[in-house]
Amino acid sequence: MNTIELTNIKKNFWDGDEENYVLKSLNFTAKKGEFVAIIGPSGSGKSTFLTIAGGLQHPTSGTVKINGQTLANFSKKELDRFRFKEIGFILQASNLVPYLTIKDQFTLIDKVSKNNDTANLDDLLKQLNIEHLKNKYPDNISGGERQRVAIAKALYQKPSVILADEPTASLDSNRAKIVTELLAKESKEHNTTTIMVTHDTRLINYCDRVLYMQDGKLISKS
Ligand code: ADP
Ligand code: MG
Repeated sequence: MNTIELTNIKKNFWDGDEENYVLKSLNFTAKKGEFVAIIGPSGSGKSTFLTIAGGLQHPTSGTVKINGQTLANFSKKELDRFRFKEIGFILQASNLVPYLTIKDQFTLIDKVSKNNDTANLDDLLKQLNIEHLKNKYPDNISGGERQRVAIAKALYQKPSVILADEPTASLDSNRAKIVTELLAKESKEHNTTTIMVTHDTRLINYCDRVLYMQDGKLISKS
């Protein structure tokens, strides 16, 4: 079974009285444990694709299935719960809660998900070299550090799907490599399906498959 299945997805936005066709009959599937890279020019619809795949916005038409479940069949509350449990987002705005310390960002996840097993947290923070930031607030760490905390948050719950929108954008090339290696490793160890939008073509070597966004569709590159 495919973990993610998008069929005949169209997405249009109204720009004044002009309709902007961003995604045009896009089809996409990814299997359990696959690590897929999405590349393509700015404005081509990569972020729109990723947020539709994760149920953060609905397509104009077409269906999105994750783990065999059609997202459009969920109520808003059910969708929120499903997303929280199954999907880890690493988005361009880093999703950190401004008034919580780095450590408490994870305590909040434990509370909401009723998790008592925090054993892997220190190890995860160490791998991303952010364990010394635990007592700081998001505003008091650098952009690259915030990005790595966001990555740790997405991986912490071991979701079945990770959707990452340019997760290495504010990292230097060495850290970008380390983060991508970690995403690849998590994908294989926990059978996570990972989709990563990236500009950095050096990172696509870590991925199983590369797709190119062109004319509102995803085209195979390898
Ligand atoms: P990418 O991530 O590849 O740079 P996006 O998915 O962000 O591209 O955007 C694709 C196109 O859709 C752009 O022309 C953008 O202006 C437009 N777009 C994206 N989101 C919205 C929105 N909420 N309202 C109107 N237009 C949007
Ligand atoms: Mg984008």
